[in-house]
Amino acid sequence: MSDDIFTVPCPICHKQVEWSEQSPYRPFCSKRCQLIDLGEWAAEEKAIPCETADFAASGLLNEDNDWVNHS
Ligand SMILES: [Zn+2]
Repeated sequence: MSDDIFTVPCPICHKQVEWSEQSPYRPFCSKRCQLIDLGEWAAEEKAIPCETADFAASGLLNEDNDWVNHS
């Protein structure tokens, strides 16, 4: 296949995006989705304090320990 087109799903709207010169905003389908993603990252970093991140991390650790005990 010399003509296979690689596509990726847009992280925002999950539309298939052609991975080529025709998609300057890949992996996003458009500049709009790219901006939405950047905005979400910025908002998340501001919204989640370190304590919340630590709590989430220990939650994952507990799950992991439980899995180890089970086996
Ligand atoms: Zn999109």
